[in-house]
Order: sequence, then C-alpha cells, then structure tokens
Amino acid sequence: MKALIADDDLALRFIMQKMLEGWGFEPVIASDGEEALKLMQDSDEAPRLLLLDWEMPKINGLDLCKALREDENNDPPYIILVTGHAEAEYIQTALDAGANDFISKPTNSGVLRARIGVGLRTLELQRRLNIANHMLAYRANHDDLTGLRNRGAVVEQLESELARAQRYHSELSIAILDIDFFKKVNDTYGHPVGDRVLREFADRLRDTFRPYDTVGRYGGEEFIVVCPIEAQKSFELFERFRKVIEETPFLANDLAIDLTVSGGVRTFSGEEVNDAKGILSLLADADAALYRAKHSGRNTVCMVNHSSTPFPEHEHQSSGQKTG
Ligand SMILES: [Mg+2]
Repeated sequence: MKALIADDDLALRFIMQKMLEGWGFEPVIASDGEEALKLMQDSDEAPRLLLLDWEMPKINGLDLCKALREDENNDPPYIILVTGHAEAEYIQTALDAGANDFISKPTNSGVLRARIGVGLRTLELQRRLNIANHMLAYRANHDDLTGLRNRGAVVEQLESELARAQRYHSELSIAILDIDFFKKVNDTYGHPVGDRVLREFADRLRDTFRPYDTVGRYGGEEFIVVCPIEAQKSFELFERFRKVIEETPFLANDLAIDLTVSGGVRTFSGEEVNDAKGILSLLADADAALYRAKHSGRNTVCMVNHSSTPFPEHEHQSSGQKTG
C-alpha cells in the first residue's frame, strides 16, 4: 500500500521512509507541499495514507490539508499532520483543517505505527462503506432477476434522453415489449423455467440493442427500450428484435420453448414534453400501441407517432402474426 511522506527535511524524510518500508508500505516522497499536492491530483492511484509535515515550503501542511479536503469525494485520504508544535491550539487548528490525526516530532516509531494502524482501520471501513453504498445504489436501479435497469431507472433515463432529443432536435423511440402468453410458460413449466426465459429474453435485448439504447424491465414480462433513433428506422430495429424472439426457441431444462413478443413503439420527434405528465403520456401511447399489437394477433410491432395516429399498417406493422 502506498503512503505519502511530505517533508522538506531530508533526514526526517529518510527515517520515515525506512520505518514505513519496514512496515510493508510503499512510500511516495514529496519534498514540499506543492509537489505533494501535484502528486495527489495527478495520480490515478494517489496514496490513501498521508503523512504531512506542517512546516514546508510553497504550501505548508495545513494549507495542503485544506486544499485536499476541498475536492473531497467518497474516498478521502487519511491525513496525519506531523509537527514540532505540540500545544493544544495547534492540535485544534490541524484537526479543524481536516487532518484525521496529529503527531508531534520527534516521532516515536511505536506511536506512529499505532496511529497509522488507526488510519488503516478507518480507510478499510471507508472502503467497505463505499462498496455497500455502491451495491445499494445498483440494487435501487436494477432488476434483481435480469440485471436490467428497473422501471424507475428507465423512466429517469427517459427524462434525460427526452431533454437531449429536444436540445439537439433528434428523434427517439420508446417501446414497451411484452412476451406473448408468458403466463403459460409459468403455468406449464413452473416459475424457475419462467425466470430462465426472462433472463434469456433480457440477454437477447442486450445483444440486439446498442450500448446507447436504454433497456429495462418494466415489470413482469414487460420490458422497455428507449432508443435515440429516427422514426423511419425504428420499426426495422424493433422488427429485428421480434424476429430474434420468434426464430430462436428458449432453452431451459432440456426444453425448447417457442415464444413470440409483441411491441408498442411511440416515436418522438421534437414535440414539447417537459414534465412528468408528458412522459407518462408517451408511455401511455406506447402501451396503447402494444394493446393494438396484442389485439391484432400478437407477434407484432405497432408504431404510433406524436399525433397518436398509428403509422400506415402496411408499412409499419409486422406480418409475422401467429394465432393462439
Ligand atoms: Mg518542515
């Protein structure tokens, strides 16, 4: 583990360096505050444990500490200020400036080692907390079963995609896709098979759509896709996905299950949508198009544009319908 030693005194620096090396650290050396600050700001893997001398040229340890605390993130370094001053007011000033700890010169090796031990425990707790927070944030935005984004996260993404499309006068498609007769899969083969089908469906979505498309699970066997794409090309894209589902059976427990999907797509090309109500109405349009796809025999993609008029059927409704 890297540890930064910033001290203008060559002899003290050397002693510290030898001690830290002896304890298994990889010391990084700076001979003044400016060099230390640069080192911390330029490095992708800056040291997490810092031993800063108070009295240093260019930037002193106290100001360096303040500067480092200014661009505080979720993973702040552990800072020990080292100084010849031992009076209470100095200790207070150091801690107020953002130092985690304070140690006076000449430094006793046993005390320094113990203080560093406290620092390492703090850094480890901080690391675990960051991982836990990261996982919580991930779980709040993702669907457990498929790993896709959940409904809330997709709607949030839809908001920013809409703002983007309006700003750049670009087009967007919002699709709700629903696996036809999915309930039959659960009823016939049981929920574990149903879950495998949902996961496989999610994988096919990931494979078919592009990295800049947003794909999520809307709920149950319903999925949502938001694509920055021209309305005229949109049908082709969703039609391709419809075929991906129709043409390749889903494999689970030695079963090959034939499935189809229906989709309702709302294309968006620059009309004013500024609030949550507007977003809901876009989703409602996509839902209405899906309803139309279901009622015209399923295994179909239906498009609707901003005037809520269905596109001409012969052009924009797929023909791979199945009965049953
Ligand atoms: Mg000094």
